[in-house]
Amino acid sequence: MLTNAPKGTKDVMPDQVYKWHYIEEKFADICRRYGFREIRTPVFEHTELFKRGVGDTTDIVQKEMYTFNDLGNRSITLRPEGTSPVVRSFVEHKEYAAPQPLKYYYSIPCFRYEKPQSGRLREFHQFGVETFGTTDMMADAEVIAIGYDFINEMGITDVELQINSVGCPECRGKHRDALKKFLEPKFDELCPTCQGRFNTNPMRILDCKSPIDQELVKDAPMMVDYLCDDCREAFEQLQKNLDSFGIKYTVNPKIVRGLDYYTKTAFEFVTTKIGAQGTVCGGGRYDGLVEEIGGPSTPGVGWGMGKERILMTMEACGFNIPEPAGADVFIAFMGEAAKAEAIRLMAELRRRGLAVQMDVMGRNIKNQFKVANRVGAAKTVVIGENELAENKFQVKDMVSGMQTEVPMENLIEELMK
Ligand code: ATP
Ligand code: MG
Repeated sequence: MLTNAPKGTKDVMPDQVYKWHYIEEKFADICRRYGFREIRTPVFEHTELFKRGVGDTTDIVQKEMYTFNDLGNRSITLRPEGTSPVVRSFVEHKEYAAPQPLKYYYSIPCFRYEKPQSGRLREFHQFGVETFGTTDMMADAEVIAIGYDFINEMGITDVELQINSVGCPECRGKHRDALKKFLEPKFDELCPTCQGRFNTNPMRILDCKSPIDQELVKDAPMMVDYLCDDCREAFEQLQKNLDSFGIKYTVNPKIVRGLDYYTKTAFEFVTTKIGAQGTVCGGGRYDGLVEEIGGPSTPGVGWGMGKERILMTMEACGFNIPEPAGADVFIAFMGEAAKAEAIRLMAELRRRGLAVQMDVMGRNIKNQFKVANRVGAAKTVVIGENELAENKFQVKDMVSGMQTEVPMENLIEELMK
């Protein structure tokens, strides 16, 4: 047990971490292009925040949270998602008083007590974006566009953007009544989870994964047919804006999102390449959330994207993430006097910005060259007693195999090339 990571968690080993660096750097770069700025919030929050912000009736709050009392007897929860903490921070720092809109992004670990399987972990990682302060559907189209462009830039070809509207508290009420009326005669056939949802959150039954429930809701009343004028107009505007951004989408009336605070726009990016957990990104508009959490009524829209699922889909699409070179220079040495000189040279080159390695295992020169190859050094230089005495050093280009003889005074310059 001591030597096994907890169930549902994964190490990222040094030989894999470049893939994470790649998507994280690309994500930070696309956020810069879109004008989203990074926000960093704590890994844990007061439990109440998620009960309010995610919603008491959701799976997350009901059965997936890592909640504990700290030594000061406060109820603390490891962040299961990124939106509520950003909203909390937005209110705490009175960001609503600044000129709007405000656009944030984050790159975070999240924690949910779920049944681990492919693409579903207990500690997983998300990218997220949120825009606050505007009800203009251009903002919804823009957050979708950044997800769309990012997914494209990651070489993911097989993904479908599905959009829907979940309406607003007014029109949702009518749909809710119609849906319950439709489902009532089928209540006994629903899965136990959906029987529970029937009163608390019946709309969630529409996106239940159980095939029996899927069949039962096939002809159920859909929210898109119940939108009030304002919500229908917004949904049309969303589609116009998406067209202007050059984004392809399909309308899927069953996209519901699991979270209570969503209004109007709801969307998912879905792939068929990674099995059952094919939603790589999901989000929508949450005009009621800021107020729910104690701030002044402020509209918002955003999404969360699973980094593990993005990496899995990139792999499935055959995208080759470039592996960075291991070292610029490898310094091979022979003898104690040469070793001191080699260390001095290594220290100097590192201070000048090069990645430099040397053997610390007492290997002979032949094996030092093997190490130079293994770490992928671009150049190797040999320092031995003869070289020091004659002030001539062999610099080998490890790709072409070419050797150049260089005197000490030019050595740094040559290696820096
Ligand atoms: P799912 O339907 O897959 O359970 P969700 O609706 O719970 O997703 P969100 O809360 O919207 O997901 O989170 C945003 C994204 O985070 C998801 O689209 C997915 O890519 C990723 N994600 C969610 N839960 C997990 C998990 N347990 N392990 C890995 N990735 C996850
Ligand atoms: Mg989930």
